Amino acid sequence: MSKIYDMIILGAGPAGLTAGLYGGRGRRSTLIIEKGQDGGQIATTNEIENYPGQLLEGETGPSLVKRMSEQAEKFGCERVSDTIKAVELDGDVKKVIGGRGEYLGKAIIIAMGAYARPIGCKNEEEFRGRGISYCATCDAAFFEDLEVYVVGGGDAAVEEAMYLTKFARKVTIIHRRDELRAARSIQEKAFANPKIDFMWDTVVESVDGEDVLNKMVVKNTKTGELTTIEANEEDGLFGLFGFIGLLPNSGLFEGKLDMENGYILTDEDMRTNIPGVFAAGDIRKKSLRQVVTAAADGAIAAMQAEHYISNME
Ligand code: NAP
Repeated sequence: MSKIYDMIILGAGPAGLTAGLYGGRGRRSTLIIEKGQDGGQIATTNEIENYPGQLLEGETGPSLVKRMSEQAEKFGCERVSDTIKAVELDGDVKKVIGGRGEYLGKAIIIAMGAYARPIGCKNEEEFRGRGISYCATCDAAFFEDLEVYVVGGGDAAVEEAMYLTKFARKVTIIHRRDELRAARSIQEKAFANPKIDFMWDTVVESVDGEDVLNKMVVKNTKTGELTTIEANEEDGLFGLFGFIGLLPNSGLFEGKLDMENGYILTDEDMRTNIPGVFAAGDIRKKSLRQVVTAAADGAIAAMQAEHYISNME
């Protein structure tokens, strides 16, 4: 018979790894299931300057997450790499069905995070990986000395635009309004960066090119005027990065858990509507999605899972 874990944690971002740390420290048999690399969104974030204690020179998202993973494992948290296909959440023993096996647990902590929202322009899928990207850390180097456009006006768009200036000749932020949403401190750095330009009140309508992206049509949201942007002939292509917010990875739970706009609803103790099932981090409905709030959610979820299991015994 398969082992029954005390806690199974779905996802190894900051929320899942913190839940793993607390589960392990509480001497509960704890398993984290992750399909890709650890860290979720911070695995592809170059700079994090607002996680408390984050003052180490040269610290990046991946270096922070590496320490989080090691810390969870140090306290006995087990790890498996698998893609979750289905979940059975009712009853005292929950079942998680992955591509490689099935896993049983008394409590489940869902920490599967969120992914980049598509830009929403015509032909977007066709040029994904051929000029369009959603990860500056992953793809900036492909645009060495080229022109790059960044869609969005939040923290992610502006921070990633600044990172892209280390590679690109010029970075233009395309924002649908005439004012950024990003934190003031981040905005100030971007306005002071001579390699960053802004295209206000603008959205991308369509993208095009023969093999790689070299043409797009943008629309002024106030006047409706359409403008075609083409790569200069010598370059032959330009980059287009989308950072316009997130969509939760919650499809597996539709019809099973209470949600709002795809985000899982929890109480302040991370409890969902099913006993023994908790949600933590960006996948749940909340007002602030940051590493520090994800980590806090993970800690609370694991402590509440611990109370839930203790009450079952
Ligand atoms: P966000 O804060 O939700 O901002 C999304 C941006 O995209 C907004 O400027 C929004 O415009 C724009 N947008 C949304 N839908 C659009 C559409 N269909 N077409 C064009 N533009 C669209 O998302 P984010 O910047 O990805 O950040 C997500 C979360 O991570 C936030 O909680 C953020 O604080 C956090 N984060 C924090 C840091 C940091 O603190 N260092 C870094 C990265 C991310 P409007 O402004 O007009 O709504």
